[in-house]
Amino acid sequence: PADKEKSNSVAKIKVVVRKRPMNKKELTKNEEDIIETYSNSLTVHETKLKVDLTQYIEKHEFVFDAVLNEEVTNDEVYRETVEPIVPIIFERTKATCFAYGQTGSGKTYTMKPLPLKASRDILRLMHHTYRNQGFQLFVSFFEIYGGKLFDLLNDRKKLCMREDGKQQVCIVGLQEYRVSDVENIKELIERGNSSRSTGTTGANEESSRSHAILQLAIKRSVDGNESKPPRLVGKLSFIDLAGSERGADTTDNDKQTRIEGAEINKSLLALKECIRALDNDQGHIPFRGSKLTEVLRDSFVGNSRTVMISCISPSSGSCEHTLNTLRYADRVK
Ligand code: ADP
Ligand code: MG
Repeated sequence: PADKEKSNSVAKIKVVVRKRPMNKKELTKNEEDIIETYSNSLTVHETKLKVDLTQYIEKHEFVFDAVLNEEVTNDEVYRETVEPIVPIIFERTKATCFAYGQTGSGKTYTMKPLPLKASRDILRLMHHTYRNQGFQLFVSFFEIYGGKLFDLLNDRKKLCMREDGKQQVCIVGLQEYRVSDVENIKELIERGNSSRSTGTTGANEESSRSHAILQLAIKRSVDGNESKPPRLVGKLSFIDLAGSERGADTTDNDKQTRIEGAEINKSLLALKECIRALDNDQGHIPFRGSKLTEVLRDSFVGNSRTVMISCISPSSGSCEHTLNTLRYADRVK
């Protein structure tokens, strides 16, 4: 019963907004900070033009579970988002943390440190609270690019997905590494991040078209028998989503870009629907819409938990994208 209370006290869906500081480029262009933040709400000050071309400000207000302003550190982001769900993955729960937002809004900056901090806490629990109970920690890291899966910890090997009879998702050939200390996991995260799609045009350009998925799996050996394969207990997934503006690349001149844009658009729409279905506890989960949601299928059922971190730029130049991001986050809630 104590365990039950613990998992029940963690919200099924939590939506948090993170505003990054103004950057040099925005400041040089004399753009303005148009986002006013409060503890769990924010106001966007949008400059609009009347027909006679005089300017006026339209205010848009949004309320979320938390709003993290430009002074909030990555440590504080962790405490607000992932830390509360770490203990419950020892109780057969699957939890997912997404970073959503336009390219350059701070998704990777926000996501990169989270798995490391989480695994530090997981290992601590395994060594203390759950000492000698046969728990093991595994890491995998892959990317969805143009609707295809690539292993970021195994030379970008192409992977395929299949469902086992028990509605568990299985990614055939995905490398899983057992980790027993933080240094171990740090190395793997670095390796995976440097394997992300970078193309020829530069890092952010190509990686903005892919979803990166890092999973921490907690397994347990059956009856303390180390010779049998351990069973999955819980899973914590970290998803650095493709740039939300990329979903609009569906009319681009380049065919490949159009195909990728359509897949991204589809996956972000399907994701929103799946998270909403989780909240309503309805039987039907519309995960078949995209590769992303098919891969995450087992994380949208039953007592799963989701944290969405919506990243936004503070600048007037990004106003339209920011409003799109906030509206998406608002729909997920
Ligand atoms: P995205 O992954 O959404 O495309 P990045 O995480 O790469 O965006 O962030 C773009 C740039 O802004 C990077 O140089 C990053 O270091 C910086 N940045 C993002 N968020 C913050 C923040 N909260 N504080 C300081 N710098 C940030
Ligand atoms: Mg990024």
